[in-house]
Amino acid sequence: MIRLLLAGYLVAAMTGCAGTGTSAAVPRASSPLPATSPSTQASTPAPIACSKVATPGVTEGPYFKAGSPAASTLTGPGVAGTSLLVTGHVLNLNCAPIVGALLDFWQADGNGQYDNNGYRLRGHQFTDSQGAYRLETVIPGEYPGRTQHIHVKVQAPGGPVLTTQLFFPGSPRNSQDSVFNGALLMQVSSGASTTANYDFILSSE
Ligand code: FE
Repeated sequence: MIRLLLAGYLVAAMTGCAGTGTSAAVPRASSPLPATSPSTQASTPAPIACSKVATPGVTEGPYFKAGSPAASTLTGPGVAGTSLLVTGHVLNLNCAPIVGALLDFWQADGNGQYDNNGYRLRGHQFTDSQGAYRLETVIPGEYPGRTQHIHVKVQAPGGPVLTTQLFFPGSPRNSQDSVFNGALLMQVSSGASTTANYDFILSSE
């Protein structure tokens, strides 16, 4: 809609139909068009620093459930665990943010328990106009055979699905977990609250 409105405005300006301009202010037909239109600037976020190395995929595991609710806040009353805020972007190999990318998260609670009957600690969201996501959740607990991790599926619009997991630096069982991959470590800071950051880089869109 915004693009259509802008296009209409530009046509009106070019033909002198805007109503308030003088003939001196109306561009001549031979005037060069600007190199970049305002609508292009508004819809293309600037690249951000990234490794340009695709985020590796790892196993889905046994606890994925299709049909998660649209939700970026997974924690709430009755959910065991310490609050955790995870933020980041979804990028392509050129570090350009991908708008409207799907992220479908699922994880265990602070006691290492999955909700396999309902959708507690399961939810999907889409990246915003800057290619950013924001997940309010809890720090997952360990369960037999696994270090702390958050599962996620990431998909650019119309692209293939990346199934992977996010890990926590310093978790004592990272080195004993065959699924663990150091390229999937979040940057975690613990102050008054715990926050984490991870940028996904997709090899194809
Ligand atoms: Fe798991």
